[in-house]
Amino acid sequence: SEDRNYAEAESICPFCGVGCGIAYDERTGKATGWRAPVNRRGEVCPKGVAAFDQVGHEERLTTPLVREGGRLVPATWDEAFDRIESEFGRVRREHGPDAAFFFASSNCTNEENYVLQKGARAFGTNNVDNCARLCHSSTVAAMRARFGAGAMTNSLDDLTEADAFLVVGANPAEQHPVIFRSYFVPALKSGTEMIHVDPRSNATTDGASVHLPVRPGYDIPLLNAIAKVIVAEGLADDSFVDERVEGFEEFVSFLDGVDVEAAAELAGVDPSDLREAAKLYGEADAAAVFTGMGMSQHHCGTDNVHALLNLALLTGNVGRPGTGVNPLRGQNNVQGAGDVGALPNLLPGYRDVTDGEARATVAEEWGFEPPARPGLTEVEATHEFGDDVRAAYVFGENPAVTEPNANAVRERFEAAEFVVVHDIFPTETAELADVVLPGSSWAEKAGTVTNTDRQVMRMRPNADLPGDARPDLDILRELGDRLTDADFDYDGPEAVFDELTRVTPIYEGMTYDGIGTESQRWPFSADDGEGVAVLHADRFATGSKTAELRPVEHVEPADPVTDDELVLTTGRVIQQFNSGAVTRRSDTLVRMRPEDALQIHPDDAARRDIADGDDVVVANARGEVSVAAAVTPAVRPGTVFLTFHYANPLVNELTGDALDPTAKIPEYKHSAVRVTVE
Ligand code: SF4
Repeated sequence: SEDRNYAEAESICPFCGVGCGIAYDERTGKATGWRAPVNRRGEVCPKGVAAFDQVGHEERLTTPLVREGGRLVPATWDEAFDRIESEFGRVRREHGPDAAFFFASSNCTNEENYVLQKGARAFGTNNVDNCARLCHSSTVAAMRARFGAGAMTNSLDDLTEADAFLVVGANPAEQHPVIFRSYFVPALKSGTEMIHVDPRSNATTDGASVHLPVRPGYDIPLLNAIAKVIVAEGLADDSFVDERVEGFEEFVSFLDGVDVEAAAELAGVDPSDLREAAKLYGEADAAAVFTGMGMSQHHCGTDNVHALLNLALLTGNVGRPGTGVNPLRGQNNVQGAGDVGALPNLLPGYRDVTDGEARATVAEEWGFEPPARPGLTEVEATHEFGDDVRAAYVFGENPAVTEPNANAVRERFEAAEFVVVHDIFPTETAELADVVLPGSSWAEKAGTVTNTDRQVMRMRPNADLPGDARPDLDILRELGDRLTDADFDYDGPEAVFDELTRVTPIYEGMTYDGIGTESQRWPFSADDGEGVAVLHADRFATGSKTAELRPVEHVEPADPVTDDELVLTTGRVIQQFNSGAVTRRSDTLVRMRPEDALQIHPDDAARRDIADGDDVVVANARGEVSVAAAVTPAVRPGTVFLTFHYANPLVNELTGDALDPTAKIPEYKHSAVRVTVE
């Protein structure tokens, strides 16, 4: 707004995990790119350009709110914090510390997430999680188990050396647009071949040599069949397998039971396309996998990723430039939130809470030992509201929109005894809260974030705070002071960063000043002054020289589909972001995509007398939404697609809460639904 002061300091885009550098452009009042570590030519996508729309927005929360007589009414910071202190204290006295849950934020800084997870642990619980749980927790679980680290194995820079890209369940052209435009497109133009595995054709498919429109939920048969072709065609890398791989003979025996034609049919793809894809990937000197939520958001998400890792190991596509397995991260600090310990089973630096040595190390720094009981994940916690979980602190997330089986979750929120929401807008979750705290937008604070290829970068304040809103770090420090006896007396984000580098081994040696306008990548070497671009070159991060091949059996989706039903799968579009809490309030982005539409194949539409633009009802036992139909061959027959950016239609009314047994990620990508004309 006109009466706010804006600065032109370099900061980092608040949206996706690419981590583009942006600054305020006085002439346009919009964001402009600066030559940051990732967008070296200053490129930004439409969301980045609109990043300042949230800053001066008229709906910003500007004062604390407390619930009185059923309504949220303005209060002072002391009144709000007195209530938080008293209610969290009561819950701990009456039910123990594990009756509280803390949502950390993948869209907030490393320092804020670090302070929040430390606060939860000082309160006496490991019940802290961030929304990486909902996107790549299964990827991280599989990659940690096999490779010892769950992050991108390679840097964006070296991936341009690939001869082939295998993009599975991801749509980087729309979800990571600057990566696609600045790293993929030049490589594709100079001859890199791309295989795209996705039930929909989209902007990424346009650049692919082969498109495998897999049936949602049938990735494992597809990947096993690709492995079978690679072995049968003699495309396994024998010397890599000899030196770096265990379990080859057993894996080949397992593949004896895989019939390529039958697997292709089950996966819903053309067997000759599958064979071509296997050859493109297997014959390449260097081939890089990019993976997204199409793989991870299944009740077998961890196994999906295990099947994908087998391909990289078989072909020796690990530990060299232009290779690896590279999860594309969704939010600007989803990598960092996990790195600094906002996870219920892991301390900063991915050390198990059950590891006595790790607890002793942090105890030395923190002055208290964190609890040894692993906490609840966020989906488990929301389903326990009112029972095992009585109080929740929700920082910068919107679980009323993002959690699966949203109608059940709404009832659970109502059953919870005390909910605090700390955010910048009156979100759908804030409407259910007992106390709402007005925090700072990305442009009103300083700190660090870690992007998708492990680069830690600095955010700088670009605008004044509105009204009585406070910097998030100050709010979280006061929360720690109010709820615990631990020390939260930090003199700003730099002091927090210094401390977190001492207890987060992968950040050891980094300095706040050293990051400056460049970045430092983990794992970092203070001696060399730089991070490691290609992981697992001589040894895996497990410490072992070898990793195992792992036979993976297909499991059927949790929500079986009857003859008259379709499979609903969910995803994203370029103009909106996550729960839409921010981007649905941006005039710029709303003009570009005002509302959602159900993508449905012409055959499925014809069978139901649905014409393009008709209002349709999408329903199952969990819920029912109304939305316009977009009849298009871009989505495979039998499958329909909605985004998860809108509160209306709220797609998560329809998604189920079957969880992956290891990562506890929900099966967002496969829900049985009926579609009828309204
Ligand atoms: Fe922001 Fe991602 Fe767009 Fe870059 S690609 S401007 S980080 S949303």
